[in-house]
Amino acid sequence: MPEGPNGRTFYQRVVQATPGGKSLAQCLQCGSCGGSCPSGPDMDHSPRQLFAMIMAGMEDEVLSSNTPWHCVSCYYCTVRCPQQIPITDLMYTLKQMAIARGKYRESGHVDFSNSFIGMVERFGRSFELGLATRYHLTHNPLKMVSKGTLGLQMMVKGRLSPLPESIRNMPQLTAILTEAKRIAAQQEV
Ligand code: SF4
Ligand code: SF4
Repeated sequence: MPEGPNGRTFYQRVVQATPGGKSLAQCLQCGSCGGSCPSGPDMDHSPRQLFAMIMAGMEDEVLSSNTPWHCVSCYYCTVRCPQQIPITDLMYTLKQMAIARGKYRESGHVDFSNSFIGMVERFGRSFELGLATRYHLTHNPLKMVSKGTLGLQMMVKGRLSPLPESIRNMPQLTAILTEAKRIAAQQEV
């Protein structure tokens, strides 16, 4: 199996970079994770397939997959996994590794992720209207009409803001994000 930094296999690096990651070895390939996932239809590989690929040392294929980038961190798979595997956290590890190896561009979905991060860094929160518009324009423009009607109804009821709104204490959040980036830069994945 190909080895990476410090002579560790891809599987070992994924496990060591994820809290509770050792339990990945207990995966039963039962498919409950993929069956629970709201983003499943958009993913190249189900979480179950991705884990089998990690065990097979398919580093390039795994880090180029769009699967982690479609994960919306709902944790539904994690609470349903019979082996208590930290599936959502594994998705974060894979995203981190894909960025570190420059593989994220091949997944084709990092722009969406960057848009979200840019909004959080600028306003302290997501701007749903801007994010949803960008997502549907680039991924599913045919759905724009039906989603646009829903968006208008939500705006009328005050559930969707037409403009981005900033949180009150942005300097405090900026300091937290700066420290988080400093810590992340020190971690080897
Ligand atoms: S639900 Fe858990 S045990 Fe089942 S395939 Fe997914 S990760 Fe493996
Ligand atoms: S946490 Fe991610 S992978 Fe798990 S069910 Fe939710 S979207 Fe799917």
